[in-house]
Amino acid sequence: MALARIRTLTLVGLEGHLVDIEVDIAEGLPSYTLLGLPDTALTESRDRVRSALVNSGFTWPNRRVIVSLSPAWLPKKGSNFDLPIAIALLVATGEITQESCDEIIFVGELGLDGSLRFVRGVLPTLLAATKEGITQSIIPRANKEEAALVRSIRSVSASSLSGAVHFLVTGEISDEPSVSDTEFFQETHLDLLDVVGQKSARFASEISAIGGHHILFIGPPGTGKTMLAERIPTILPPLSHERALEVSAIHSVAGILGERGALSPLPPFISPHHTTTSPAMVGGGSHVVRPGAVSLAHEGILFIDEAPECAPGVLDSLRQPLESGEVTISRASGSVTYPANFLLVLAANPCPCGKYSGRGRGCTCSSVQIRRYLQKLSGPLLDRIDIRTFVEAPTRTEMASENYGESSAQVRERVIQARAASAERFANDPWLLNSRIPPRELRGRFTAQRQAMSFLHSELDSERLSARGFHKVLRLAWSVADQKGHTIPTLDDAHVAYQLREGMEIL
Ligand SMILES: [Zn+2]
Repeated sequence: MALARIRTLTLVGLEGHLVDIEVDIAEGLPSYTLLGLPDTALTESRDRVRSALVNSGFTWPNRRVIVSLSPAWLPKKGSNFDLPIAIALLVATGEITQESCDEIIFVGELGLDGSLRFVRGVLPTLLAATKEGITQSIIPRANKEEAALVRSIRSVSASSLSGAVHFLVTGEISDEPSVSDTEFFQETHLDLLDVVGQKSARFASEISAIGGHHILFIGPPGTGKTMLAERIPTILPPLSHERALEVSAIHSVAGILGERGALSPLPPFISPHHTTTSPAMVGGGSHVVRPGAVSLAHEGILFIDEAPECAPGVLDSLRQPLESGEVTISRASGSVTYPANFLLVLAANPCPCGKYSGRGRGCTCSSVQIRRYLQKLSGPLLDRIDIRTFVEAPTRTEMASENYGESSAQVRERVIQARAASAERFANDPWLLNSRIPPRELRGRFTAQRQAMSFLHSELDSERLSARGFHKVLRLAWSVADQKGHTIPTLDDAHVAYQLREGMEIL
């Protein structure tokens, strides 16, 4: 047969599109033509595919070869097309029958020696294939655990081109036993039990987890801000299977699924360094658009330590995802959208020298310097942060105490209960968390008890609270009420909320 047709899938963001690869081998001078919007990596596939075929013991057709990828309008990127192109060539030269390849999708990059290499995005690719009614795939061996997560597709993994061909010809999986169906996530060993003291910062973290309130920890270096932040995922409700699959799909596209472990019910914790660039933060790359830190943190925590040290544009780039819960990256070849619904946790030193403290030891910074330093956290970003909490070094008594406070499991239980209460309250609303109550609803259905409202109004009248601050305190008051099991925020809840909001008077 001189004509062959093989199917694969390409991803645009997390969305999969079927691609047909047709190969025609015709009489004429030896040549190789690739049709259908290929990018550079794909154009280079000719040399990889040729070497892989020859080094696997097959012959390269010394005739006119035309490879067409359709639909033609869809931009096709990367090296995932190597395997399907090689298979199509082998069908066209008669090494494999067309029937043995129908109903199968092929994904994989080829090494020059014919080995089949790990590719990014196998999980979302196979999820998309399921939607297209495909029931079988051939993928690189290095992606087999990931492929096993998609139970509706029988995935055969091979470590080489010849392994894949051997399977198509004989139906035997040549070089290894079939995939085990264990879910391979790692349990975390982090627990709030490890944190000494920090009563108010612990409480602030719990309220943050209950209402989805973004939070800023301010404190001298070494007081445990990072330790606390790392443990917030352990007090959040575990991810449902569906959510975990979505998170794993994003991590798969980024090629870091192995680090986190697939299908982990633990919300992700992503902590980009303050020297990180905007493309690394929100996603980018000229070749294949990679998800950034905001998308890797989807359904979990984005933690930025020493946030005032970030380049100004980097923090500003968080505004779009904070507002919409997703991020869109535009390229000449089209735009890509990734989900980015995360809880933002920032940490900052209290002043440039880092020693400022409520206990007043050793800081030499002027109030102007302090103000200027913290103002690097620009207004629009700070507007989205509901909680500011001061983290002090634990006192000697706390260090010596045997009683370290509650475990993550105990706190998580309360967070789950409180979230159930708010979910019931918002059953008919488009939002789920207290931090998302729109301002007009705070003036209507979701006001607090009368005394609480008059306290907040008097703070507003005396200009100790801005209109925006007023809304934040009220949203926080709902989370405090949910934590305490109140059906409506009381005056006490409003006081507590006010403290959480105004944790540091200097800002
Ligand atoms: Zn200082």
